[in-house]
Amino acid sequence: MSKIDLLSLTLEDTQMLIEEMGEKKFRGKQIFQWVNKGVKDIDDMSNIGKSSREKLKEKFYITDIKIEEKLTSKIDGTVKYLFLLEDHNIIEGVVMEYNHGLTACISTQVGCAMGCSFCASTVGGLIRNLRAGEILDQIVVMQEDLGKRISNIVLMGSGEPLHNYQEVIDFLKIVNNEHGLNIGNRHITLSTCGLVPEIKKLADLQIPINLAISLHAPNDAIRREMMPIAQKYSISEMKDACLYYLEKNNRRITFEYALVDGVNDSKDNAYELSGLLKGLLCHVNLIPVNTIEERDYKQSKKEEIKKFQAILKSRGIETTIRREMGSDINAACGQLRNTYIKNKK
Ligand code: SF4
Repeated sequence: MSKIDLLSLTLEDTQMLIEEMGEKKFRGKQIFQWVNKGVKDIDDMSNIGKSSREKLKEKFYITDIKIEEKLTSKIDGTVKYLFLLEDHNIIEGVVMEYNHGLTACISTQVGCAMGCSFCASTVGGLIRNLRAGEILDQIVVMQEDLGKRISNIVLMGSGEPLHNYQEVIDFLKIVNNEHGLNIGNRHITLSTCGLVPEIKKLADLQIPINLAISLHAPNDAIRREMMPIAQKYSISEMKDACLYYLEKNNRRITFEYALVDGVNDSKDNAYELSGLLKGLLCHVNLIPVNTIEERDYKQSKKEEIKKFQAILKSRGIETTIRREMGSDINAACGQLRNTYIKNKK
């Protein structure tokens, strides 16, 4: 029988499994607190008796991801991590410092199946889903390494979070728990390329996290060229799912729009996008696309980005341009991992 990862369990599941072993329910809470504090050895749980620890070791283990590489930007202090998983797969995470505290961008899958044409994370396809504990451990390890609390999380590293739905939902429950890292739902952003049924499922759960949609195009024709998911769901289906999310959660939605020179950055594109989003409680985040070795995209010129933003703003759409962070440390999502894998080979 394979062992169960304690760090992947919600408090309720931990308590249930511990009670099933004949232990008192409060032991479940103690164990949950230990693993969320970063304890990796069951023997280090000092308020659990030796015989209980022996029983625990027969049935459980604790995820333990390691820092394989760490790069710190000399420009803005952004820290980029390559994490080594127990099966030797590699994932990336980033910590950025803003006025409101530290924000961690973490991965939910090893690689990604979605094939977005501007993204380095999908170049080798999907390798596997991460368990909830592996998603969580990225935060635990970053906090321990930096000696500081992470106050905001974005699920925007490699992987499509809603393609690993159940593990991501478990992660959200664990990370928000007051006996765990206790990070407020309003400080968590989930970014999706637009899996329509899963957006609706998430909306029904009414977990008040922030939803970000990787839109990147004002119409289906351009979106289909950039993102294979657009073959499956039209922008109008996705907009309906967003309206449903808003109805259930009343949280402003962010639309991510990576500007690619000559592909989606014209004035007409900006007007079309304004029309699409008019009246929606939303915010547009314009991202100067990163140049990726494996792809043929160039970043839009600075003045084009400004013009694009001005058009959206003139139509009443709140719009910001994403600040480039860690530009001296190969910050494009997935790039560091790809370089690492290539060098290893
Ligand atoms: S942008 Fe996100 S969903 Fe698209 S390929 Fe990259 S990681 Fe996957």
